[in-house]
Amino acid sequence: MAAVLVTGASQGIGACIAKRLAKDGFDVAINHYPSESDREKALAVAEECRAFGVRAEIFSADVSKFAECEDMVKTVKETFGSIDALVNNAGITRDNLMARMKEEDYDAVIAVNQKSVYNMMKFVCPVMMKQKHGSIVNVSSVAGLYGNPGQVNYSASKAAIIGMTKTVAKEYGRKNITCNAVAPGFIHTPMTDVLSEDLKAKMLDAVALRRYGEPEEIASVVSFLVSEDASYVTGQVIEISGGLSM
Ligand code: NAP
Repeated sequence: MAAVLVTGASQGIGACIAKRLAKDGFDVAINHYPSESDREKALAVAEECRAFGVRAEIFSADVSKFAECEDMVKTVKETFGSIDALVNNAGITRDNLMARMKEEDYDAVIAVNQKSVYNMMKFVCPVMMKQKHGSIVNVSSVAGLYGNPGQVNYSASKAAIIGMTKTVAKEYGRKNITCNAVAPGFIHTPMTDVLSEDLKAKMLDAVALRRYGEPEEIASVVSFLVSEDASYVTGQVIEISGGLSM
């Protein structure tokens, strides 16, 4: 059975992607941040994945750490025998206007959102090359496409992911590895639940569909991108934003 590794999959969009791909018949490697609460949430996600009759295991690693990614990829490969798809989903925000943004908040977001994507692709691509196939989906954001006040760190990390996606698509296309990105807009998750009602209302004014997206609406596009139906799609960025921009 094909196996997928999803980073930051203990909650939110990552958990939803893991469950959707389990439903699609993938064995699922669920990465979670190394904390007890994330481990417990990841175990619950794994349980829900297994209900679809697939294998699901959890793997603890801080994906901003190069060595932890190397160990995790090795363990996932030993556990499942292959890594057919990789979804780089883990991400954080540390928002503030640039004038007030602390250096540590800039560095933390770049490390978790951007460096992690390098770490994971660095170790997963050789596995996929040996298999002679693989698909990678990187979770970017509309902030990476258009910028967003208060998110100079986050938008930098998400814009970088788009460049990395296109570069890896060009470098690994001849190896039958596809690499695409999704750019979600305002999605209903713990990351956005913390925003003020005022800010949420203002954001929705700019969305053609006049509502938040649901994590399932990101998972369905990721599901397409890792499927055979998308075998000739690579280096693309698919915006999933309810028509935020067009
Ligand atoms: P979320 O609910 O906060 O989930 C992010 C997950 O990543 C959490 O489980 C988090 O664990 C994990 N994570 C954070 N740092 C990690 C690390 N160093 N190593 C491993 N895992 C780590 O956020 P979400 O809304 O589902 O976001 C998922 C992805 O979509 C992110 O890349 C985000 O930038 C992107 N996105 C979200 C939206 C939106 O509107 N929600 C829009 C555009 C893009 P902890 O809980 O322990 O931090």
